[in-house]
Amino acid sequence: MQDRDVIVVGAGFAGMYMLHSLRRLGLATTVIERGSGVGGTWFWNRYPGARCDVESMSYSYSFSEELQQEWVWPHRYATQPEILCYANHVADRFDLRRDIVFDTAVTAAEYDDLEKRWTINTGTGETFRARYLVMATGCLSVPKVPDLPGLGNFRGRVLHTADWPREGYDFTDQTVGIVGTGSSGIQSIPLIARDAKHLTVFQRTANYSIPAWNGPIPQKRESEIKLNYRALRQKSRGSYAGDYADEYYVSILELSPEEREEQFERRWQEGGFNYQYAFADAMVSEQANELAAEFVRNKIRAIVKDPQAAEILCPKDHPFGAKRLCVDTQYYETYNRDNVSLVDIKADPIIEITETGLRTGQAEHHFEVLVLATGFDAMTGALTRIDIRGRHGVLLRERWRDGPQAYLGVAVTEFPNMFVITGPGSPSVLANMILACEQHVEWIAQLIEHAEENALTAVEADPEAQEQWARQVTESAGKTLYVKANSWYLGANVPGKARVFMPYVDGFQVYSQTCDDIAKTGYPGFHLR
Ligand code: FAD
Ligand code: NAP
Repeated sequence: MQDRDVIVVGAGFAGMYMLHSLRRLGLATTVIERGSGVGGTWFWNRYPGARCDVESMSYSYSFSEELQQEWVWPHRYATQPEILCYANHVADRFDLRRDIVFDTAVTAAEYDDLEKRWTINTGTGETFRARYLVMATGCLSVPKVPDLPGLGNFRGRVLHTADWPREGYDFTDQTVGIVGTGSSGIQSIPLIARDAKHLTVFQRTANYSIPAWNGPIPQKRESEIKLNYRALRQKSRGSYAGDYADEYYVSILELSPEEREEQFERRWQEGGFNYQYAFADAMVSEQANELAAEFVRNKIRAIVKDPQAAEILCPKDHPFGAKRLCVDTQYYETYNRDNVSLVDIKADPIIEITETGLRTGQAEHHFEVLVLATGFDAMTGALTRIDIRGRHGVLLRERWRDGPQAYLGVAVTEFPNMFVITGPGSPSVLANMILACEQHVEWIAQLIEHAEENALTAVEADPEAQEQWARQVTESAGKTLYVKANSWYLGANVPGKARVFMPYVDGFQVYSQTCDDIAKTGYPGFHLR
């Protein structure tokens, strides 16, 4: 049994920075990581085309001026190997590895109320004890394998985008089927199509995707950003989405039809998330949203030559942006290739996976490789898979049966001294997530420092404060169009999961100001014992 001050679970961007911050406080910290390397998301998601969709110079750590000055991002949106390389560089530069235990999954954690200690069990049999437990287990770290009848019978290779073989996979001359057209599917489809003999895409829900217009970062732009990095990072911290892109907040409904077309076209040409975040009413007014949606549909109709395929690719059953927006490189263009076919499995659902492909109600499809781009048990999946027991043995999974509740998305009643990074109820997946991780890490480190300085043995969220926070998160989401789609934000992609909108929608800047105010005023909403 190893005794530590803090155990951190997960060595993605959150866990790595948490370790660095706790070391600075002089606390003996160990990080436990299931994978055999750092990087989290970027360690596991090695599918072709995987890359970030928040610009790399923004989607990167801001805590070290030296680090951000020395690192060179070659492209506007870095590839998975580039981001993994960066994560490894950070681990080396800050000498993190000596306190990370790899290839070890945390299976259980139990709080002893008398000792005020957590006991942490792992799959390797190693046990740890610690005064604090920080869950940096990720919002998108548990791949969701769909319950497709007959999946076990398939004789070819099955690959999940979020658990991709480390050695890669060569699709050359192979026939491939892919299920899933969210961000992972939309990124991988053009590259699989480039190599495969034939690719069949099985689409259930069409998604909105905006072009990335990826390319090298001009040196002048890089220099400008580096010269102004501190100010730009401040700007990100004061923004809705945790990014330094200009937030224009134009109201779609206040524009004339000509101005509207001009604005939509300008955002489309800029590429990426600004198409959503530039418009103040896009996520609150159905009428405004429909105008933004129809502009995208018309782009799809203009790109995809086969009108029937174009209509299948046009999302019509949910508001624009209510499922996470996708950002692509040549996605819609891929359907103009001769070696790509599209099957609408909403109209003609999958009946079963066969030994050589799959069968829908109307046809039999054959392929050698099946790619599942079917997403994650998001936001809570990594936490509910661990037997986390708080005071009196209560199980977190049980407490969250009807939906997760966490005060500020960070702390849970009955689970003292446990903190969740980017937990449900925080902006997390609606923001630039590296910045969201940094903000949580810094806030948690400050709270732990406060506890240490004041000889507190237990820090716990007050039940009423937690309840009220959860209500506020739900009410805010209820005023937006986010709740009008069967998205993973709501847990809708996992059968049986409670339907509760999990991210905080009021904006990164409002959220972090709230956290700062709480810290400054002696942590109201927490019991400090
Ligand atoms: P993760 O990177 O998920 O790390 C969590 C770690 O915890 C993992 O390594 C996991 O193995 C480990 N872990 C989990 N459970 C256990 C356990 N029981 N025991 C031991 N270890 C455990 N966000 C953006 O803002 N912009 C983007 O462009 C972007 N692109 C993305 C692209 C992909 C393909 C995906 C899947 C997500 C993307 N995200 C993006 C979200 C991304 O998850 C975050 O940006 C960020 O990397 C999360 O870091 P993290 O450390 O919080 O979690
Ligand atoms: P996702 O958005 O949840 O998409 C999963 C896809 O699989 C959907 O099209 C879904 O269809 C389909 N699907 C799931 N189960 C199915 C079934 N049983 N039968 C048929 N289709 C099924 O997952 P993801 O694409 O992995 O992305 C998850 C999140 O990770 C993103 O939203 C984003 O936050 C992050 N990410 C970001 C990037 C990036 O660009 N940087 C890349 C990848 C991932 P339905 O919609 O009909 O359920």
